Amino acid sequence: MRIVILGGGFGGVAAARRLEKLCGRRPDVEITLVSQNNFFMLTPLLFEACSGRLELRHCAQPIRPTLRRTRFLEARVERVDPEGRVVHAVGGEGGTYELPYDHLVVGLGAATNEALIPGSASAMTFKSMADALLLRNHVIECFERADAARTSAARRRCLTIVVIGGGLVGVELLGELTAFADDVLRYYPSIRREELSFHLFEAGPRILPEIDPSLAEVAVRVLRRRGVDLRVSAPVQAIESDRIRLADETIEAGTVVLAAGIVPSAVAAGIPVEHDRRGRIVVDAAMRSRSHPAVWALGDCAAIPGPDGTLYPALAQHAVREGRHVAENVFAAVEGRQPAPFVFRSLGTMASLGHQRAVARVFGLRLTGFPAWWVRRTYYLFQMPRWDRRLRIVLDWTVALFFRPDITKVDITPEPVPTSRHYRRPVAGGIFHDPPLRVDP
Ligand SMILES: Cc1cc2nc3c(=O)[nH]c(=O)nc-3n(C[C@H](O)[C@H](O)[C@H](O)COP(=O)(O)OP(=O)(O)OC[C@H]3O[C@@H](n4cnc5c(N)ncnc54)[C@H](O)[C@@H]3O)c2cc1C
Repeated sequence: MRIVILGGGFGGVAAARRLEKLCGRRPDVEITLVSQNNFFMLTPLLFEACSGRLELRHCAQPIRPTLRRTRFLEARVERVDPEGRVVHAVGGEGGTYELPYDHLVVGLGAATNEALIPGSASAMTFKSMADALLLRNHVIECFERADAARTSAARRRCLTIVVIGGGLVGVELLGELTAFADDVLRYYPSIRREELSFHLFEAGPRILPEIDPSLAEVAVRVLRRRGVDLRVSAPVQAIESDRIRLADETIEAGTVVLAAGIVPSAVAAGIPVEHDRRGRIVVDAAMRSRSHPAVWALGDCAAIPGPDGTLYPALAQHAVREGRHVAENVFAAVEGRQPAPFVFRSLGTMASLGHQRAVARVFGLRLTGFPAWWVRRTYYLFQMPRWDRRLRIVLDWTVALFFRPDITKVDITPEPVPTSRHYRRPVAGGIFHDPPLRVDP
């Protein structure tokens, strides 16, 4: 019996770990987890990884040490043939894999929605560790350029940051960026705080629709106090390089980040099973595809109905529970039992605002300021699967209490290939390694 899980995110890793436990006495069940990266990323920690309060790698956990008997394959899933029950994937070296399955769990997540606003491709996104690194480098670069700018227009542009989208990601990112700017400005004595210009544009009637309105109001007040121009019912009409267009205004901005919603992974949306209008895989309450019972789906790429018919939101806390539950259901199916519906009531929602501030609703309790920030941090710390990573995070946080964030950029340009006798040759994947020294005659 072969169970293949696609995606090493919140849902996929939780499903693999639970399946391992359930299949402990079933050596005939093979579990394979396929993901394009060999790590699992704790997205709520990505904001601090971007500002440098947390070492970038520490918001992620390598997948292999979290698994005992699951076969892990680092490969990009290209397509799935649900009729032939085969997954087609491509490895780092370009090798192709065909993975037959009896049960398939799809947890490929989602991507930033770039179809809503014309020109979205020229905005930065905030979804991956690479995004966090690029944004961090870019913002620091903007401060450097502003410091050296010859014209006031160029300086103003460098010091203008626009975030599009007032959901959790947009608000938390802006909160962290304002705090980062406050903390590092002392390294740029020529730049005054009033010169920094932060904007948040939300097309809907309010920010943080994931959280109750009174807490969203607190977040609005905190951000406005930090000088953020925060506008709701303000859809961005177009994004161009270095500027955005609103209905009646154009804003020149050196940094534009798009966080205005997500779309399911293109691969998941392309699997020929039943999908909803947005491309999510349609499943029943047990997370099984309505059209193909060997296919199960969870997390951001699935449309999972709750007991009242409304769909569960695209949130990590749901994806983890869905992962565990789908594992129980797949195992039940393997054993010839009936799968059970997934029922979960959210534990609450939390949004960090930087500067040790947050807003949170946890188990019905309303928290703001430092207590909310502390609860959020502690909760996510324990979402990291292993203690070695948790310890590294705590050490980073402790160091960050005493020092300002680092403004070192990470140079990601590879060294040019020299033509000298001692050369370095690029190998597949852009990684350089040193071949044995060659001495030309
Ligand atoms: C910056 C940020 C902050 C967030 N903060 C919160 C928060 O505070 N609270 C909360 O509840 N939710 C939060 N979320 C949402 C949460 O991260 C998602 O809901 C959750 O990750 C969904 O889990 P998933 O398993 O469906 O997908 P993911 O966790 O995204 O995992 C998908 C996996 O599939 C892999 N993959 C994708 N395509 C392929 C392919 N073709 N081949 C192989 N592998 C592939 C990816 O690399 C990834 O490992 C945040 C999201 C972001 C971006």
